[in-house]
Amino acid sequence: MEDNSHFEVIIVGGSYAGLSAALALGRSLRKVLILDSGQPCNQQTPHSHNFLTQDGKEPREIAHLAKEQVLQYPTITFHQGLATVGRKTPTGFDIETQAGEVFTGKKVLFATGLKDIMPDIQGFAACWGISILHCPYCHGYEVKNKKTGILLNGEGTFHYVQLISHWTRSLTLLTNGKSTLTEEETAKIVNHNIEIIETEIDRIEHHQGKIQHIVFKDGSGIPIDALYARPEYIQHCSIPEQLGCEFTAQGLLQVDTFQQTTVEGVYACGDNASRRALAVAVATGNSAGAFINHHLIEAAFQR
Ligand SMILES: Cc1cc2nc3c(=O)[nH]c(=O)nc-3n(C[C@H](O)[C@H](O)[C@H](O)COP(=O)(O)OP(=O)(O)OC[C@H]3O[C@@H](n4cnc5c(N)ncnc54)[C@H](O)[C@@H]3O)c2cc1C
Repeated sequence: MEDNSHFEVIIVGGSYAGLSAALALGRSLRKVLILDSGQPCNQQTPHSHNFLTQDGKEPREIAHLAKEQVLQYPTITFHQGLATVGRKTPTGFDIETQAGEVFTGKKVLFATGLKDIMPDIQGFAACWGISILHCPYCHGYEVKNKKTGILLNGEGTFHYVQLISHWTRSLTLLTNGKSTLTEEETAKIVNHNIEIIETEIDRIEHHQGKIQHIVFKDGSGIPIDALYARPEYIQHCSIPEQLGCEFTAQGLLQVDTFQQTTVEGVYACGDNASRRALAVAVATGNSAGAFINHHLIEAAFQR
């Protein structure tokens, strides 16, 4: 009878990074389980850009094609479910799901991504990924020279304004409260004809996620076509923390050049450990798959 609970590698997260790792592992004849809860961070985005051969495609179309190709390898199993608990065992790891299933693996790879925390501004969540954008390399070209806002204050604001100003001349910085920019930074921004508005935001008016107006708490407002924002994020999955993995100052999983975390046998790839882009997720997933296979081969040759 086929053993459906013991695997060489368990991949938690079956989106771009996890599927990419699975492809490398399946092609390395490894028995792999992919556990996925179906909540990728870009699920509200109509079109994905800046990923070679897939530019402009729907994110779910890219993931669907990836899954179809990966599941052609007979040693790979895909299981829909939320992993909730991880335990170290003498031979590897147990991963338990919300439904109570327990799977064992010699190695575990987290490709679990990040979860964005929507700020408490009416309309923000509905526009996120549609007309509120996280990255100019992914979406800047589509809104070039449009009336654009940046919702940001604090560390990194000046550099982000500089970056976005490359894509549009019609730019307003919305600090949503007193600006933390230095006098010198403020002068440079104003010299580049970029308006700074400190008034607190009341709401974002939109039509089906397409932003129309920013309305301020004093009753004033400005029309806008696109808004860049950098909401807070958290790790999508808490199991790496349960297992004792360490994190960077940015809250990402700390990995070495083999994509291994600070806990031996536990690996991470994609957004949870690196810069957010499909190309990076796929690249780090591919590396993780190859390195895990390599480490399994090394372990087998120890006797
Ligand atoms: C709004 C938005 C738009 C974007 N647009 C672009 C773009 O145009 N171009 C581009 O290159 N990049 C874009 N990105 C970035 C890109 O989407 C990410 O880099 C990519 O999705 C990362 O892939 P990942 O596999 O690491 O994580 P994700 O795609 O977020 O997938 C993580 C997966 O892990 C699963 N998971 C998490 N925890 C568990 C658990 N405990 N148990 C089981 N499964 C779990 C989730 O359900 C999910 O399926 C965008 C990001 C956002 C937020």
